[in-house]
Amino acid sequence: MSSTTATAATPHGLSYVTPGHDSPWHTYLAQVDRVAPYLGELGRWAETLKRPKRALVVDVPIELDNGTIAHFEGFRVQHNLSRGPGKGGVRFHPDVTMEEVMALAAWMSIKNAAVNLPFGGAKGGIRVDPRQLSAKELERMTRRYTSEIGIIIGPQQDIPAPDVNTNAQVMAWMMDTYSMNTGSTATGVVTGKPVHLGGSLGRVKATGRGVFVTGREAARRTGLKLEGARMAVQGFGNVGSVAAELFVAAGAKLVAVQDHSGTVHAESGLDVAALLAHVKATGGVGGFRGGEALQAEEFWDVPTDILIPAALEGQITPARAQRLRTKLVLEGANGPTLPEADDILADRGILVVPDVICNAGGVTVSYFEWVQDFSSYFWTEEEINERLDHIMVTSLNKIWETADQHRITLRTATFAVACERILMVRRDRGLYP
Ligand code: NAD
Repeated sequence: MSSTTATAATPHGLSYVTPGHDSPWHTYLAQVDRVAPYLGELGRWAETLKRPKRALVVDVPIELDNGTIAHFEGFRVQHNLSRGPGKGGVRFHPDVTMEEVMALAAWMSIKNAAVNLPFGGAKGGIRVDPRQLSAKELERMTRRYTSEIGIIIGPQQDIPAPDVNTNAQVMAWMMDTYSMNTGSTATGVVTGKPVHLGGSLGRVKATGRGVFVTGREAARRTGLKLEGARMAVQGFGNVGSVAAELFVAAGAKLVAVQDHSGTVHAESGLDVAALLAHVKATGGVGGFRGGEALQAEEFWDVPTDILIPAALEGQITPARAQRLRTKLVLEGANGPTLPEADDILADRGILVVPDVICNAGGVTVSYFEWVQDFSSYFWTEEEINERLDHIMVTSLNKIWETADQHRITLRTATFAVACERILMVRRDRGLYP
């Protein structure tokens, strides 16, 4: 059944979204539209996926160390809560916008359903360059933001986690602020906390590990040998560096790496441990002496077998997709490939393991952390990694079967599996009132 009869009375678009096709939200909408033919009678409910359930904008004023007052714009978007509490990270970045946070929240709905976690999708962010703040200013901003969004988050409502430029320390401040405001220690309000504060073993490396596990499975299924495979990674933070380490341990070579500070190339392979030490000491890969520096745009021309975008969205543009010389793209980042670029990659026979499954390892171990916090019983790292690997492999298998069955890309297959799960719940819960 088509969705048109049911949505005929629905005005198109949202008044607070800029018309046009160049924001991550429009990328997400284009991806959802592609799933319509596979939804059957559930298509009747599909419009719900094109609207965030709830979007909160908050002012975050803080006193800077020099005594002046600064105001930052903060967001928390709950895209869909049909399957459970909202779940999704918090990003501190100068380019954060409402539309970006909406898209990231929506991708969390899809991702959580794709790996069958009992969560909806949410995301938050502050428009700020955290490198310009002192540690004390960062803490004040995080605490004020947490208080402002405190009216919609909670262990049963919406559970933030780390994303770009946020980490275990930021989560500890968020947990403490929420706990102070509610009068009891609420470890389950955020995930990605330090292990001694109710965090989970294995969480820090979980996203990179999930990228590796899905990449290893995709390589196995397509006959690509990891031993000697050439790999390029954009973004050498939490996700990119862990994925690189695991692939190198499996025999691959890191031939190019790029972050905000520069691009480095070495045909014979970069020394990942030395690169990590350099990043720790200097804040970025730029200036690393174990390879030659490249211009940023040259990164996309390096011949590879595996490319891992693990920085920001919108990186694989149509022009770059035409030029890429690789076999397998593993989307560590959220939304790194524009829809037109996706089509070009598919036409060129370059396999893409999409973000909504590829980087789901982080939220999967976040789920484990949340479960452990509720039961106050903590698992070993071996148990966590084993359960993570199992969820990633079985989820990818189901998506691969769906892709084969309908002859569609892994991205559309992931959306089809996830949207069906979300909309089945939507249908069975029914509309209130
Ligand atoms: P991070 O802050 O640890 O690292 C971000 C990396 O991107 C850094 O190396 C930074 O230098 C680089 N970068 C920033 N701007 C860049 C630019 N313009 N060009 C090239 N590189 C740039 O963040 P992270 O947690 O590794 O997240 C990276 C991506 O993975 C994001 O898209 C995030 O949403 C996604 N993701 C993260 C997790 C997680 O658990 N951390 C889970 C799922 C998805």
